[in-house]
Amino acid sequence: MSQPHMPPAHPFDDDKLKEECGIFGIVGVTDAANFVALGLHALQHRGQEAGGIVVHHPEHGFNSARRFGYVRDNFTSQSVMETLPGPIAIGHVRYSTAGSKGATAIRDVQPFFGELSMGGVALAHNGNITNANALRRELIERGSIFQSSSDSECIIHLMARSMGRSIPDRVEEALRKVEGAFSVVAMTRTKLIGVRDPLGVRPLVLGKLGEAWVLSSETCALDIIGAEFIREIAPGEMVVISEKTGVESHFPFRPQKPRFCIFEHVYFSRPDSIIGGRSVYETRRQIGVELAREAPVEADLVCPVPDSGTPAAIGFAHESGIPYGMGIVRNQYVGRTFIEPTEQIRNMGVRLKLNVNRALIKGKRVILVDDSVVRGTTSRKIKEMILDAGAKEVHFRIASPPTAWPCFYGVDTPQRDKLLAATMSEDEMRDHLGVDSLKFISLNGLYRAAGEASGRNDAHPQYCDACFSGEYPVRPADMLEQGFQMKAAE
Ligand code: SF4
Repeated sequence: MSQPHMPPAHPFDDDKLKEECGIFGIVGVTDAANFVALGLHALQHRGQEAGGIVVHHPEHGFNSARRFGYVRDNFTSQSVMETLPGPIAIGHVRYSTAGSKGATAIRDVQPFFGELSMGGVALAHNGNITNANALRRELIERGSIFQSSSDSECIIHLMARSMGRSIPDRVEEALRKVEGAFSVVAMTRTKLIGVRDPLGVRPLVLGKLGEAWVLSSETCALDIIGAEFIREIAPGEMVVISEKTGVESHFPFRPQKPRFCIFEHVYFSRPDSIIGGRSVYETRRQIGVELAREAPVEADLVCPVPDSGTPAAIGFAHESGIPYGMGIVRNQYVGRTFIEPTEQIRNMGVRLKLNVNRALIKGKRVILVDDSVVRGTTSRKIKEMILDAGAKEVHFRIASPPTAWPCFYGVDTPQRDKLLAATMSEDEMRDHLGVDSLKFISLNGLYRAAGEASGRNDAHPQYCDACFSGEYPVRPADMLEQGFQMKAAE
């Protein structure tokens, strides 16, 4: 049977890196699914293509719902939510990377569910398994029947083959075979399980709501349900949580130095989240401060490219003393209005999403602060709009270093040859974009803004920064097999 397909939720937003997923779970409340729906709504920025919830009820057993589109459109109606009773639930929002990219089938939408000899288990994964192809081949050869094209389903099959005596034992054993980046929430009939990979590339936090326990990709989703932030799940940690026993912590992997994704600070996480004890907003503001110190320029106005460039623009303006203004205004609703745009509407492109505040821009030397340059297509269009509005000069300041390498850890990046910074120097990019100046924050400046006072430790980098440096903390086995060329050792 053919499966319904979903167009990208933001058809005009193809010049950004996209976080793959958000995950959320709760145990110890009545109607856990309602809390998961709220949590997923707060994590919607991490994936807009589809979402799913699995619950367990002592009488009604496991139930699930998986839908394309936004959480608010799918998991608010009584007819759906009353099919999801129970005190324990997990959920997932998805933007497809691994799996059938660009043409997701409903069978690829998580959480995945498996019936094991000791009971059912549901699992949702944020990240990317870098040896998924090899694992899948091996599992299929040994008789596993895959339901989806998602790399995450390997975990369920590895659990099915494990000899572990309990489901948490099997989660542990399965994840020891998996390489790459993973934050996982899983559930049995009574237990909520959370795991982060040994490097802690993707986030996962623990919260408490009365007697209930919560796991979430980000703290902003704890806030929405009024849960208290307890702590981050540590890199390499597995927590097994039940109403009866509370939180048990295990460390099943060989300890390694953490390498959290530094791009979470720049762009993926919501600015009202806390990461590593730091406010994401404050880190982004500080990136603007560093950028103003590293790459000053005489100008009349600092404008963010909304929304993600805003905190860095505020920091840049503060540090430089140049006035801040909303020179570009974003229409928040365009992605919803033109979900399947006609060719004519598509040609309007960026103008549908962003509009220039002419009265503010005219006759000014403008500094535009954006979070990143990926393909450069949007940056060029924005520059044209600013010049059309009568700006005298346009200077781009970018709140991340040049994105010159693809991410293989759960973020959708174009192939390397489509990344502007992979093929051009900074000066060539400036000429290509046709702006008066273009400067990116240095890697050291970004590390300082993220709280590392002495910058990047080149011998042992404190973060994953592979998309900037080309230094991959986990060997991308599947991609190497497909011919990807790593950066030559210096
Ligand atoms: S490669 Fe970039 S986007 Fe991917 S995990 Fe590393 S820092 Fe984050």
